[in-house]
Amino acid sequence: MRKFVIMGVQGSGKGTQSELLCTDLDMVHISVGDLFRWHVQNHTKLGAQVRRIMNAGELVGDDMVESIVRERLDQHDWNWGFVIDGFPRNGRQAEFFMESYDIDGVIHLELPEDEVRRRVLSRRLCPNCGMDYNLIADRPKVEGRCDICGHELTTRADDTPEALEGRLRDYNEKTRPVLELFGRKEFVHDIDARPQADQVQAKIREVLGLPAYRPAG
Ligand code: AMP
Repeated sequence: MRKFVIMGVQGSGKGTQSELLCTDLDMVHISVGDLFRWHVQNHTKLGAQVRRIMNAGELVGDDMVESIVRERLDQHDWNWGFVIDGFPRNGRQAEFFMESYDIDGVIHLELPEDEVRRRVLSRRLCPNCGMDYNLIADRPKVEGRCDICGHELTTRADDTPEALEGRLRDYNEKTRPVLELFGRKEFVHDIDARPQADQVQAKIREVLGLPAYRPAG
């Protein structure tokens, strides 16, 4: 069983790289941001509690984060392992996680901040089927419409310049120290996130000693 954490600043491709890792290696991708977004979209009680915080690009309280992570991992649908993305984001979350789970490695996607701004502010999402686009590298065929289901594309509520600055600040102040903590245990693999997604994926697999990417079909 393999247990990986994927870390990196907003827009560094954590979601994309996690999905690519999980497709043919039978691991489960656990995105804490996606779990919270599900609650917001489905108007649950938890969704109502976190909606404003998320839209402002602020961090949700540690107790809520820990309980959603614990609940998700307790489902035990990850017999072959998991890639957890968006967690831990501060020292307390890292301690909680390390007390409960052994980690095989931390993938750290590195991206300069000017590239982060460029990528994040051009990100678009289909609220219907979840497909994501980027107006620079991965444009939809018809402007503003999803290639898969034709639904109108939207922007994530926290992909505004103001929210992004707050998220970058949190990343630098609270999340970077977690990388140092993991780094002391020699878990961290630094990966340049600037190349194309398939090249980044190849590098991740090389450093982790995983089989090369084999898309299904
Ligand atoms: P993400 O998709 O990872 O950027 O997460 C979206 C939002 O969910 C963040 O801006 C936070 O509001 C919340 N969130 C996700 N993961 C965490 C976490 N580990 N700690 C606190 N808040 C989180």
